[in-house]
Amino acid sequence: MRWTQAFIPTLKEDPKDAEVVSHKLMVRAGMMRKVGAGIYEYLPLGWRVIQKVAQIIREEMNRAGAQELLMPVLSPAELWRETGRWDVYGKELMRLRDRHDHDYVLGPTHEEVITDLVRREVRSYRELPLCLYQIQTKFRDEIRPRFGVMRGREFLMKDAYSFHATQEDLLRYYELMRETYIRIFARCGLETRVVVGHSGAIGGRVAHELMVLADSGESCVLACPDPACGYTATDETAEGTVPPGREETEALLPLTEVATPGKETIEEVAAFLGVPTTQCVKALLYRCDDKLAVVFVRGDRDVNAVKLHSLTGANDVEMAGPEFLATKRASGVVPGYCGPLGITPDFVFFDLTVQRLRHGVIGANKPGWHCTHFCAERDLPGATYLDLVRHVAGDLCPQCGTPMTTFRGIEVGNIFQLGTKYSDAMRATFLNADNVEQPFIMGCYGIGVTRTVAAAIEQHHDEEGIIWPRALAPFDILIQPLDVKQAEIMEVARQLEEGLTARGYEVLMDDRDAKPGFKFKDGDLIGVPLRVTISPRTLGKGGVEVKRRVDKGATLIPVEGAVDAIIRVYESCP
Ligand code: ATP
Ligand code: MG
Repeated sequence: MRWTQAFIPTLKEDPKDAEVVSHKLMVRAGMMRKVGAGIYEYLPLGWRVIQKVAQIIREEMNRAGAQELLMPVLSPAELWRETGRWDVYGKELMRLRDRHDHDYVLGPTHEEVITDLVRREVRSYRELPLCLYQIQTKFRDEIRPRFGVMRGREFLMKDAYSFHATQEDLLRYYELMRETYIRIFARCGLETRVVVGHSGAIGGRVAHELMVLADSGESCVLACPDPACGYTATDETAEGTVPPGREETEALLPLTEVATPGKETIEEVAAFLGVPTTQCVKALLYRCDDKLAVVFVRGDRDVNAVKLHSLTGANDVEMAGPEFLATKRASGVVPGYCGPLGITPDFVFFDLTVQRLRHGVIGANKPGWHCTHFCAERDLPGATYLDLVRHVAGDLCPQCGTPMTTFRGIEVGNIFQLGTKYSDAMRATFLNADNVEQPFIMGCYGIGVTRTVAAAIEQHHDEEGIIWPRALAPFDILIQPLDVKQAEIMEVARQLEEGLTARGYEVLMDDRDAKPGFKFKDGDLIGVPLRVTISPRTLGKGGVEVKRRVDKGATLIPVEGAVDAIIRVYESCP
């Protein structure tokens, strides 16, 4: 491909709305353009990379015995009503109505559609196991589309669904998928970790997430540094123990009301009373659908709201706003001064960090007042304590008690054991060996194809631009003739292009009549793994210069036998 004929609209400046490197570089390198919030056009360079990722996924999924198909983007609301997800999925589900007033969904995922297909077509255990997958555009009305294709409203996903006759067979396949995922991302040249994940709106029990390690990642992962243990989980799922605060050995005193006028935050109250925040009890107020939940935690910690979904059975969990709280006045909850004694919200939960407090500060449930000398054991007899905090580095591993560390990652894929959640809801059954009807046992396996491209850039870039791992690069080799008006230079460039192409390499020749510095900058920006430069200077020294994108310096190789030498250097690129 010649650059003068290619559509690679590179930019000097970062786009204004871009916060992360991958978003900036994908726009600047001419890989994509924005159409609307969370909606992008993938330009030829970007599409080449997406296709590389998709092809690796395909090869590995096929190798694991899965078969590719293509389901429709549009699906009738009836299927979503059958499983209840028409309601549960909430505002993220893109809904539309056709001219006959029938409701439809633009697929965010395809459990319903595939389960419907399989219940119609698969009758016998003899046809199992079956794993089907597609690589397709998905739609989700994300509350905050951001970071370019990392969190889009329209994006490409590989989604796979497996159907089994037995739980053992699901477990076998789940293991195979976990290994397949590790292979896929290793082939992409990405450093990843498999972590215990939570199953969110998809449901089911066991789930793992594949994280690309990157400091800019949205996900925080807690990891046990002891290799013999190896516990890793996202901070949405992680369990653990919070190390105790100050040792409280003083004699107990009666609970005492103290005036704390205008002191509503934990920091204000702690400073005013001259105690550490670890000795205060913080009340966090949540709206769980239409119910009020109050969670008490130690003052220095935050609640993991994800845990409230399963505890309350609510779909929608968010911090309670003033309007909602106004409807719950009868509960006795006074924001800013809420304490555990004498309130009647719909749910009250106590975190384990509250259990150990002996001289704590709690809200007095009247404006401008708190209580000191709170002792959980004495003042809350019979209370149940749960692990509700969002765990942080230094908290103790739930398996072995070692202080955990954290790292950030980008969730590029996940695997779920769905069990019979969908087959039960949709009455999808087959006849087992005893001729008895039984629901399919299912797994599902997703990979964010476009998010993987962004994650690759987050992991592989420098100040100048992208540094593609070989497996994902839009082109293998960039040939840069530096004076395109000189016939001799162009002739060498053309021969190399021909020779390398004949050997199966994808070559981009920058044949633009532009200054060397300009071409070097663009070359570094788009991140092709190997660059070959031909200039009067290099030819004067009898050769051409090759430089790997990961290296600073270039090496001169003779024109004679250059194709072989270039291939050798290329094959040494990461
Ligand atoms: P997240 O927690 O990031 O919202 P999710 O749990 O909603 O992800 P799944 O429904 O399991 O994700 O989708 C499978 C894969 O699709 C994810 O692992 C991710 O790589 C990708 N993905 C999900 N949402 C988006 C999005 N809005 N934009 C791009 N890729 C996405
Ligand atoms: Mg999501």
